[in-house]
Amino acid sequence: MQFNHIDFDTYFKNYPDADGFFGKYGGSYIPQELQTAMDEITEAYYTICKSSKFVSELRRIRKEFQGRPTPVSYLERLSGKLGNVQLYVKREDLNHTGAHKLNHCMGEALLAKYMGKKKVIAETGAGQHGVALATAAAYFGLSCDIYMGAVDIKKQAPNVARMKILGANVIEVTDGLQTLKEAVDAAFMAYCKEYKDAIYCIGSVVGPHPFPMMVRDFQSIVGIEAREQFMEMTGELPDAVVACVGGGSNAMGIFSGFLNDPVDIYGVEPLGRGPALGDHAASLAYGSEGVMHGFNSIMLKDANGGPAPVYSVASGLDYPSSGPEHAFLHDLGRVKYDVISDDETIDAFFELSRMEGIIPAIESSHAVAYGIKLAKQMNKGSILINLSGRGDKDMDYIIEKYGIR
Ligand SMILES: *Cc1c(COP(=O)(O)O)cnc(C)c1O
Repeated sequence: MQFNHIDFDTYFKNYPDADGFFGKYGGSYIPQELQTAMDEITEAYYTICKSSKFVSELRRIRKEFQGRPTPVSYLERLSGKLGNVQLYVKREDLNHTGAHKLNHCMGEALLAKYMGKKKVIAETGAGQHGVALATAAAYFGLSCDIYMGAVDIKKQAPNVARMKILGANVIEVTDGLQTLKEAVDAAFMAYCKEYKDAIYCIGSVVGPHPFPMMVRDFQSIVGIEAREQFMEMTGELPDAVVACVGGGSNAMGIFSGFLNDPVDIYGVEPLGRGPALGDHAASLAYGSEGVMHGFNSIMLKDANGGPAPVYSVASGLDYPSSGPEHAFLHDLGRVKYDVISDDETIDAFFELSRMEGIIPAIESSHAVAYGIKLAKQMNKGSILINLSGRGDKDMDYIIEKYGIR
């Protein structure tokens, strides 16, 4: 398919380019000492991860440990209620640990093993990435250091407990506001010192090259499976594909399967409480070009041009930028990015739970809400929604804040 002069037949061969750019977005804006470490990872990725030994080991792990392929489910009752549009969900909530994040963590940790590293290092905010990485580290027998702000450690007690049970070291960061930003800085600093023995594992399609590419490629299994399953179930392609976008890894995973198809693709960002800066985390909708965390993309800026404070009811979408490939697809117009508010999200959370017996993560509920909205606008056709994770982790919060509806 041709789109704005981009040939999607050869898209994955051309993007990113050798320096990690998707058009003007991406790249690597980091200190030289860290660049040496990134170059080593890039080199290893192109050699090791493309080898048949690595590919077949990862394939076996996905099947035997993660429980892949995850199914696609037809939402019969919800579709019936909405009219003539058929809704389907790709069930990443059924991936081991309950979300898509394990897809790239297993890939990154397997790469660490092949590179002879003894340790994986990462930061975590809400703790989801930390739990997925701690799981992968336990599986491969690697040690695991997770940097986490002191404020987040207090807020996310169950995930801290899970990481510790899995054998990870949770390292408390007490600088500044004691949240994600400080945890990123501390983890990067530790990595600078330890890169000979350790590998840094980024939790989404963000950060310096090669991470946006590598995480996309590890997540692309979601799109490959979903396309095949949908074709088998219905004999055709969906008319639309929908996913929520925080950093953008679950979205790139499913989108990558459909970029070369005549399918409308929608990325859904969190509008939170509204469009005022500080009330949302919709970086593509309201942001502008800029560099943060080592990559160039579209970001939300504060008065000094740094990352702005952001908010979303879904802690996993609470990030002031999105992966560079999303910025690129946004500018090309190949993917339409739109927003969903907290209120619409919570309605969808209960709707899917009650109508289908699937409790979605609050992050994923953004995509469900958008799918429902889209179904009301289309009078026929089908929509495939990526259900990035399950909502067990959100239950206490929902009951406390919204009660039982
Ligand atoms: C972390 C998370 C997200 C957001 O991350 P992306 O990189 O944008 O996919 C979405 N859904 C769930 C369930 C998550 O845990």
